[in-house]
Amino acid sequence: MTQDDEKFLRRAIELAATAREGGNPPFGSLLVGPDGAVLAEERNTSLTESDITAHPELKLARWAARELDPATAAATTMYTSCQPCGMCAGGIERSGLGRVLFALSTEQLGTLKPPAGPPSFRQEGPALFDEARVPIEGYYV
Ligand SMILES: [Zn+2]
Repeated sequence: MTQDDEKFLRRAIELAATAREGGNPPFGSLLVGPDGAVLAEERNTSLTESDITAHPELKLARWAARELDPATAAATTMYTSCQPCGMCAGGIERSGLGRVLFALSTEQLGTLKPPAGPPSFRQEGPALFDEARVPIEGYYV
């Protein structure tokens, strides 16, 4: 980790603090492009916007997918105050961002908050394979 990496991680931690000050869960993130410039910053706004998806990592992944060409996205780093959750990791994967550097790991975060309960929903499947595959066949070829 370079001195610039530490500087940008500290900025992500500052953004986490401002999220908390604004009445939201304490998480913040930013994107730094290939030339070292800050491209965008976000903080968690899930409570003030009543949006369960308003995590900073997912907001930045969506921004990157919209605004960056694939080569720039691949050379861009997301700095984030905590390791991205599963929802955000999925968005980051689809965004084409090339690198994520986090401060707290999910395991470390777990020592600072009450334990999460078991999943509150049930997944069932697979089902109707012959019908469900029809709209997908040929799409990715
Ligand atoms: Zn998340």
